Amino acid sequence: MADWTPDIELLQASDNEEWMQVERTYYGRLMAYVGRRIDDRQAREDVVQDVFFGAVRGIASFDSIYTFEQYLFGICRNRTIDNLRRRSSRGLGAAQESGDGMPGLDELIADEVTPSGVISERDLVDRGQDLLVALLKEWVQETWQLGEFTRLMVIEALFHGGWRNRDTWKRFDLKDESAVAGIKFRALKRLRSLANRRDPAGSLLLKLAEVAGEAGSHLELSVMQAWRVGKVSCPARYWMTRMIAGNLPDEPLRYVQFHLVEMKCEFCQANHDDLVRADEKGEDPLLDRLQASTVQFLRSHVIRPEEERME
Ligand SMILES: [Zn+2]
Repeated sequence: MADWTPDIELLQASDNEEWMQVERTYYGRLMAYVGRRIDDRQAREDVVQDVFFGAVRGIASFDSIYTFEQYLFGICRNRTIDNLRRRSSRGLGAAQESGDGMPGLDELIADEVTPSGVISERDLVDRGQDLLVALLKEWVQETWQLGEFTRLMVIEALFHGGWRNRDTWKRFDLKDESAVAGIKFRALKRLRSLANRRDPAGSLLLKLAEVAGEAGSHLELSVMQAWRVGKVSCPARYWMTRMIAGNLPDEPLRYVQFHLVEMKCEFCQANHDDLVRADEKGEDPLLDRLQASTVQFLRSHVIRPEEERME
């Protein structure tokens, strides 16, 4: 099943039908995302409605380096954090820690905080992040195509999960810690040669390396962020559909489960919850309500660019 993506120009022209299709396509995923983090039903609906309003307001400055889904989830994440912050400052309690992969408030806001030392690196990190996303994606794709799922999981555990070598080799039944180091060494070597093609002068990477070498550098965080925000290894919705239908072969299945359960990918968890619920969903009064408000909003709306930011 190919995942529908909207025509950005139609959205920018405030095309009602295109926006309605956006809501039909994505609201289940957004509700699932928010549902994992906010208990209160009314608050959840408000947040999701707000996400669509925010998407309408920000679409004029949509950055095509991201997919539309990333754009929408970026807004959703910000709105969810805002809501949790407001609730916790009113003493209503933040999201609770649970075994279900729901992060606490601290975890949610941790990478939103910008320590003062990072600000001067901001530009560099942004550009570096784009390059990193592209490189990592390329590496993930070729590794997936080779069927090297253990290698893929090891690297994701290190780069995305921030696992240490000594925890990683046990999880994947490798011989010892040095096997992990070997996989990492080869992956970095390959990434460097991929980087060479995109940044032949090496100027960006050189600067990144300088920054990384400085004490208190936050570069490592940006690899982790590149992996998450860039959805570097997120399997297409098609794979998730096959997993739920029970006809995904063992090897990719092992990977998709690892990504969902151990890496706790928030995009894929939301996709998964939405797909699982799709069968049970019949009439949907909430979708009707959301769409009615959005139509009204589109009618009354004057587009103000620069209002929505990507993460
Ligand atoms: Zn994912």
